[in-house]
Amino acid sequence: MMIIMKVGATKDQINAVMSSVENLGLKAHPILGDEHTVIGVVGEVQSLPPDQFVRMPGVERSLPISKPYKLASLELHPKSTTVTAGPMQVGGEGIAVIAGPCSVESRDQLLETAQAVHAAGAHALRGGAFKPRTSPYTFQGMGEEGLEILAEAREITGLPIVTEVMEPDLVELVASYADVLQLGTRNMQNYALLRAAGESGKPVLLKRGMSASLKEFLLAAEYVLSTGNQNVILCERGIRTFETATRNTTDINAVPVLKAQTHLPVIVDPSHSTGDWNYVAAVSRAAIAAGADGLILEVHPNPLEAMSDGGQSLKPKRFVELMRQLDAIAKAVDRSMAPAPERVAVPAV
Ligand code: PEP
Ligand code: MN
Repeated sequence: MMIIMKVGATKDQINAVMSSVENLGLKAHPILGDEHTVIGVVGEVQSLPPDQFVRMPGVERSLPISKPYKLASLELHPKSTTVTAGPMQVGGEGIAVIAGPCSVESRDQLLETAQAVHAAGAHALRGGAFKPRTSPYTFQGMGEEGLEILAEAREITGLPIVTEVMEPDLVELVASYADVLQLGTRNMQNYALLRAAGESGKPVLLKRGMSASLKEFLLAAEYVLSTGNQNVILCERGIRTFETATRNTTDINAVPVLKAQTHLPVIVDPSHSTGDWNYVAAVSRAAIAAGADGLILEVHPNPLEAMSDGGQSLKPKRFVELMRQLDAIAKAVDRSMAPAPERVAVPAV
């Protein structure tokens, strides 16, 4: 349910309502609007009488939230959320592009890629240090050493770091290096991980499960939001269908559908959704045209030698070309590319 406070309700009145909610064993999430403060109430609200909070001072009315995902819904939170990670903003007017290799493979590889994507106007650097590989016999990532290299790349370029965490026990370690915690498709319904990532307080980039409906996706986001962490970026990364011509099928519908259901920013990952660099630019353009707030793209200086996902990685030159095209597409849909972060230090390589 949501409790709509009167225009001009005092802080004390808002706090009194929040305490009364919490005393019933429910959780109160205040949302400060331009006019009204709205308090989202989540938990077992079905048994409450309809007038439970309405006679309290400062309360205008209360309404049920019809969607199962309460905190993610536009009903409760009609204004879109902008997630900020260092100098990057996702969900505002500007389009944000997160780019980098699938995996951190070496210092040279990562720093070279970081500088290339930064020069091309990317807003954040991606790179996996802990990799969720389908086979246990393939490269599993560099672990903490990879995180250290990512932190060095941030020092050099000023780009915030997006990197995956796969286990609740590793959230603290990964969060101590990362600006954004990526939760991968295979872990979209790992509820312990969703909670731990939420509790870290770091922005979370949540990828859609490869066989998850949009409702399940939003309910997964709800787990993060229910910890009090509002900084969730939703990422459509392709779903499994009968089609075998591409690794996954980009559900482009997901972009406008999610935008109609939730205030959270929505980005697309055309690298994983196509699995083939030949199609990445076309699907990237389509995603921005469909209303996505950004993209996450795999870029590698030498895709043929990549230790993971080389076949879907763009070379830096093609990434530069794509960024130019995206600028034009963004303008066509009344958006613009977000300004690129300033470089903070002199490059070391
Ligand atoms: C990745 O980003 O490299 C990755 C493994 O993504 P996904 O979880 O979407 O497969
Ligand atoms: Mn990958």
